Formats: sequence, C-alpha cells, structure tokens
Amino acid sequence: MSRDVLEIEGVSKKFGPLTAVDDVSLSIHENEFFALLGPSGCGKTTLLRMLAGFETPTRGRILLDGADVSRTPPNRRPVNLMFQSYALFPHMSVRANISYGLEMEGRPPAEIRSRVDEMLATTQLGGLADRKPDQLSGGQKQRVALARALIKRPRVLLLDEPLGALDKKLRGDMQIELKRLQHEVGITFIVVTHDQEEALVLADRMAVLKDGKLLQCDTPHEVYEHPADAFVAGFIGVMNFAEGVALAEGGVKARDGSAIAGSLPRAVAGGQAAVAAVRPERIVLFPAGEIANRTSGTVVALAYHGLDLQLHVQTPLANKPFLVRVTADTADRRPLAVGDQVELGWSAADTRIFSN
Ligand code: ATP
Repeated sequence: MSRDVLEIEGVSKKFGPLTAVDDVSLSIHENEFFALLGPSGCGKTTLLRMLAGFETPTRGRILLDGADVSRTPPNRRPVNLMFQSYALFPHMSVRANISYGLEMEGRPPAEIRSRVDEMLATTQLGGLADRKPDQLSGGQKQRVALARALIKRPRVLLLDEPLGALDKKLRGDMQIELKRLQHEVGITFIVVTHDQEEALVLADRMAVLKDGKLLQCDTPHEVYEHPADAFVAGFIGVMNFAEGVALAEGGVKARDGSAIAGSLPRAVAGGQAAVAAVRPERIVLFPAGEIANRTSGTVVALAYHGLDLQLHVQTPLANKPFLVRVTADTADRRPLAVGDQVELGWSAADTRIFSN
C-alpha cells in the first residue's frame, strides 16, 4: 500500500448558513487517480478548491505530506489546479504556454527547454509547439493545459471536470489518454466529475458526496458491487429497486407479498422499511432451474445499445419497470417485442438490501 499524500481530516466549509462540505475525512494515496463524484451542489468543487487553497476550511485540517496546509495560500502549495476552461494564454504559442510557469520560477533556459521538450513528447504535442491555442482542437487544448499544469511537477494535480468541454467520442479517447499520462508522470490526480461512468473508468478510488457529506469512498468495483446506501446504488450505474419490509430471516417482503431473497446488512433489522435492489445485468431472462428470486412481467419498452439490449419490464415488485440487460446474441436467439410476457430471475447473492 502506498503512503498518503493528502489527508483530509473532518473538513467542513460553511458559506453563511449553508454547509457546502460537512465533516469530510479522506486519505488520498501517492500516485493515485482519485475521483470526487456527486450530484450538482454536493460540494465537490468546494472541496477541490480547499485542496488547492482557494477556500479555507471552516473546520478541520488538510495535511499534505504530513504538514498542515489548511491555511497555506495556493501559490505556496505543491498543488496545481487545472480549470475546465483550460485558461490558456491566447497570444502565446503552445511552447510558450507550457514554459511560462518555469520562466516565472526563473529556471535556467537550458533546463526549461529540455523539460518543455520532454513534456511536449509526453503529451504528444511535439508537432504543434509553434501553434497558438485558437489553432488547436478541443482535445489538443486540453493536452496543452495538462502539460502546463504538470511541468511544475506538483505533488498533486487537481482537475475540475477536465473532460467537460469535449464531445462524447473525444471524451472517451481523452479518458484513456489521461490515465496513461497519470501513470507515466506518477503524480496524484484528483478529478472532480459529475459523470459516474467517467469516474468508474478513470479512478483507482472514488468518493461519493451528497449534500456535503461523504457517503462512500472505495474502489469503483466495490462502490458498484457494494454501494453504501440506496442513493449510491442508484447514482453509480443503474439499479432496480423494490420497496418493502425487511424480513428477520433475511430478504425483503415486496409490495406484492413475495419474499425477495438476499442477506440483510447489519444496519437493517427485520420489520424495518427496506428496499431490495438488483443490477440490470444480474437479471436472467427465462431462468432455467433453481433460482432464488423469480418474478414475471410485461415488456413495456425495448432499447438497443449496440452490444446489448435493454428491456423495460413491468413487474408486480415495483411501480417503475425493471431494467434488464441481455446480450445481443441472447436477444437474437429469443426475439422479444413490447407486450410480451417474460420471466425474470436472479440469485440471492445479487440482491442488495438497504434501509428505506
Ligand atoms: P456542480 O457539480 O454543480 O459544480 P458541486 O458539487 O461542485 O456542484 P459546489 O460548487 O461545491 O458543488 O457547491 C456546494 C454548495 O455550496 C452549493 O449549494 C453552492 O451553491 C454553494 N456554494 C459554493 N460556493 C459558494 C460561495 N462562494 N458562496 C456561497 N455559496 C457557495
């Protein structure tokens, strides 16, 4: 396990009566790609701005390499913030934009030249060094902004919605590029995003925030497979929910009276209002043989998503149709249409139960 570069200890930030960040504690490891994620207004930008030094915590401490930097101004922290707008100097070439920070530090010209050349190569901008920002594509501008932020070798690079200005296809390419770059430079990246898919792709670990509170911090796999609560379950990926009452022997009694098998987490006791949840890809269509959970329903909508088919199935378990994901070849073997009756099943191990 690598050591912690940043420790956020009980940090809160109030703006007048509003608590934007509420008692958040987190440790971020060296060389980690960390994502801060949550719905609009959850406080992720405020937390990032406190890490950068643009805001001061109302309570708590921020330690960088063990030293308290809570009140250290931005330019005195070995931390760099890359803005979504990139903030490139329009009248300067790519090379001049990248070398600016080192020139301000008064580095010798030979060192500046070699570090800029190295950074141009790392960010694959070698052929574009003499261009001005308005002669670059969105993805190229993004790489210049990254090069400019990385050339000063910060301990931590903070990125606020780094891919927000790019279209969907380019975002996908740049996600891979960003991960490669982080790996190559070996600097801790903390990225703020409201895009849960992006966080799943990019992050080694992620923190999910809501109303300023930290709900869960773990690897994307753990957060996806073992969400801390029903909010996280619905926010990260797609989840089907069936409300009911927890059964003392395990599982949830659904609104149609059937028992949904699954194990109760420690926080949920029998008799308590609870919600059973299952991921669309864990549901089997027309299950053969023994399966713990079975229900039937009517197909109310169908949507092709390239490799898979998504079925919306109205079941007696919930008001909202269940979403079921089947692979294209399963769909080819058994063509389905709106109005068809289907059987659904999933195993007890794939049920997640939360308090409601
Ligand atoms: P988004 O995804 O919309 O950018 P966010 O999760 O980044 O949202 P923040 O920008 O951190 O959220 O804002 C958290 C809360 O704090 C919001 O209710 C916001 O209105 C409030 N807030 C942020 N900055 C200030 C400020 N300078 N003064 C007053 N309130 C603020």
